Amino acid sequence: MAKAVINPRIRGFICTTSHPTGCAVNVRRQIAIAEAAQLAQTVGNALVIGSSAGYGLSSLITLAFGHRAKVLGCCFERPGKEAKPGSAGFYNLAEVHTQAKAKGLTVETINGDAFAPSGKEAAIAALKARFGKLDYVVYSVATPKRTDPATGVTYTSTLKPIGPEYHAKTIDLDTDEIKPISIPTASDADVEATIKVMGGDDWKMWIDALLAADLLAPGCRVVAYSYIGPQITHAIYRAGTIGRAKDHLEATAHTIDAELKQKLGGGAWVSVNKALVTQASSAIPVVPLYISLLYKVMKAQGSHEGTIEQMVRLWKDHLAPGKTPQVDEKGRIRVDNQELAPKVQKETDALWAQVDSANLMSISDYASFKREFRGLFGFEVDGVDYEQPVEIEASIG
Ligand code: NAD
Repeated sequence: MAKAVINPRIRGFICTTSHPTGCAVNVRRQIAIAEAAQLAQTVGNALVIGSSAGYGLSSLITLAFGHRAKVLGCCFERPGKEAKPGSAGFYNLAEVHTQAKAKGLTVETINGDAFAPSGKEAAIAALKARFGKLDYVVYSVATPKRTDPATGVTYTSTLKPIGPEYHAKTIDLDTDEIKPISIPTASDADVEATIKVMGGDDWKMWIDALLAADLLAPGCRVVAYSYIGPQITHAIYRAGTIGRAKDHLEATAHTIDAELKQKLGGGAWVSVNKALVTQASSAIPVVPLYISLLYKVMKAQGSHEGTIEQMVRLWKDHLAPGKTPQVDEKGRIRVDNQELAPKVQKETDALWAQVDSANLMSISDYASFKREFRGLFGFEVDGVDYEQPVEIEASIG
């Protein structure tokens, strides 16, 4: 065991350290929100793939602490060792495990590559031994790389436009300045690679493996997450390489849905969620600036939500037992409805047209973006004494 004072080490959208106490405080705040939501207590078993951060962590907390489901989570996180802190996701789950134990709940974690056959085999073995059939499967993996187990080829996703070269403004996260950005047009190989990483291939492989192992219960509900976003980010997000991957994910939902309906009377959906500060979204050019303006507008209008509020609403209104999910014309659940409300988008567009380095702090909520970004790694969390040495090693066993 090793204790140390841990400071943030940030470059751009990467933070290479994280703080166990700050991560634990964040997790306890989310648990309190899920517990207060008074969700139905009739959910049996759930699997959350991508369970340690962002929307997956909030899904796990909603299911385990809100619905009191038995939850197996899968993630790819680095434990702390000697003087080197672990990744934030590892500390998030360490606190989830501590809290679950204290409250008599069952949460178990498989830490390894969910894309690899070994990750699926480990989950299936755990489910057979200690859980049984699943009532819910959540797929919330976000990552830049995936090795296709069928071919051994490793693909790297890109964030590029598919039409003409993209020109916009973005925040330089190191200098806090607004700068012009140009992103070249994607090649066909970029599009294919991004679909391979962030499309529905791996989700479908998980569902096939779970069906083959007879681990999906009658009526099983399956969900993965997508994003559409505003006109401002359209060329780089929904009409870009990542948008093609999301199209593929959404098409995969229809394939899985048809199979689950026919075999189990279950269903599969994509839920389109709101833009929020997560490790994945911070890496997308232009998105941090859009989020900073969006937060300003949504907070002023009283409609701002975080990942836990979004996930509680997703279950309460759509996915809880007995609820019929409300979907759009393409079959998607839309918890991004408040982000895309015309009155929110109109004001965000107006701010977007004006924003520059001089007025960034006054007309946007970039201060919250920065604070939430640091908060993802357990830094700048209220009530934490960062001068105190903290234990670096933790357990999710
Ligand atoms: P995140 O970066 O916060 O979390 C990603 C998760 O994936 C982590 O738990 C990580 O451990 C896990 N992971 C990554 N590679 C893995 C691997 N090889 N094996 C096992 N686990 C792995 O991401 P997020 O922003 O919450 O994104 C999750 C989903 O939600 C994505 O599909 C994303 O497109 C979607 N979404 C995000 C936003 C947003 O604004 N953040 C909005 C709408 C939809």
